[in-house]
Amino acid sequence: MEKYETPRKTHAARAPLATLADRYADVTQRIAKAAARAKRAPDDVMLIAISKTYDEAAIRPLLDLGHTMFGENRVQEAQAKWPDLKADYPDVALHLVGQLQSNKAEDAVALFDAIHSVDRPSLVDALAKARDKAGRLPLLFVQVNIGDEPQKGGCAIADLPALLEQAKAKDLPIAGLMCVPPVGTEAAPYFALLRKLAHDHGFKLLSMGMSDDFETAVEIGATHVRVGSALFGARG
Ligand SMILES: *Cc1c(COP(=O)(O)O)cnc(C)c1O
Repeated sequence: MEKYETPRKTHAARAPLATLADRYADVTQRIAKAAARAKRAPDDVMLIAISKTYDEAAIRPLLDLGHTMFGENRVQEAQAKWPDLKADYPDVALHLVGQLQSNKAEDAVALFDAIHSVDRPSLVDALAKARDKAGRLPLLFVQVNIGDEPQKGGCAIADLPALLEQAKAKDLPIAGLMCVPPVGTEAAPYFALLRKLAHDHGFKLLSMGMSDDFETAVEIGATHVRVGSALFGARG
């Protein structure tokens, strides 16, 4: 039996940290400690700061602290905020973590450096077309509907082999898998299942873990954690 040693602390149990710099240091340290518990190098884990709903003024201080990896969940919101910010901070890497409509694939391929929400055949087709047109392709993750929730995005586990075959046929390289476990349940078994699926298909990258469970995700092998509110504060 594998044991997950993350103390089950909630945000409520933690003293709120007043400044963004404090919260950034705290999240970074917690990632490093979780990596150490799993005997992983802290550099193996990328922190994606999820800046959805936060405006440029809220994002700039984190850029000023030297952070370069950010995530958004809507193409239109990212198009409104990030061209200006990218002009000032050219090293930024932008990740799309929300559902992507096929008719926005071209815009997404133009703006983002990674897309975590590839989840269906029509989107694979649209991304392949967008890649051919733009001559560039973001790093791609297939989102798996790991809790088999009808309302949630992501490819059903049963449909994953066919989707990966289709991507291969379109010469669309997939780098890893992504999941969002069901709300209000223990995330660890879902993270372990995503890790197993990634292993079975030969993927090295695992996008899993959010503000409430990123330490658990790191212990189970996340290479990309997606953290919003623990950095920026609760969304209004
Ligand atoms: C909003 C969001 C996150 C970050 O959530 P927090 O709980 O604020 O850390 C991570 N992943 C996805 C897909 C999201 O939509």
